[in-house]
Amino acid sequence: MNEETIASLKQRTLEAFPQVPPPNFEEITFHGCEECDGVRNDFKDVAWWMASDKLVYANFGQLPLFTPKAYHYYLPAYIFCSFVQRDHDTVIEYLIYSWSPSSDSSKAFWAQRRAILTDEQKELVRDILRAVIEDESLVYHHKDAERGLRFYSGKEA
Ligand SMILES: [Zn+2]
Repeated sequence: MNEETIASLKQRTLEAFPQVPPPNFEEITFHGCEECDGVRNDFKDVAWWMASDKLVYANFGQLPLFTPKAYHYYLPAYIFCSFVQRDHDTVIEYLIYSWSPSSDSSKAFWAQRRAILTDEQKELVRDILRAVIEDESLVYHHKDAERGLRFYSGKEA
């Protein structure tokens, strides 16, 4: 992704996600295992635009642990973090996973989260996936990104 594309996607993320207060502590994750407690403690009282890249990066694999509400709320923080240049493109990888489920059970799980995104936010997700597909350095994610485009185009249940 070139700098212009990234700047434009960042701007649209800012426009698409309102700066509202974070979810309550008990709304961040569902239950009390060690992992869920860790996520809950890490994100407690953290507004999405204040979530540091370090915080998000430390929790890149925890997207499935968020409640739908918290997933929706912290999505822009993960999107911003995914544009930070690193040796590994882990954050974008896990974002794409959350947008491109393949099994029936994971489709139902992620469709519940997709359902609360606004049309503008869904369009942003599709454009990020399109930018991934145009990026040769992200070739390993192209297949998943294409499946995500279908999932977010409403062509798949
Ligand atoms: Zn848990």
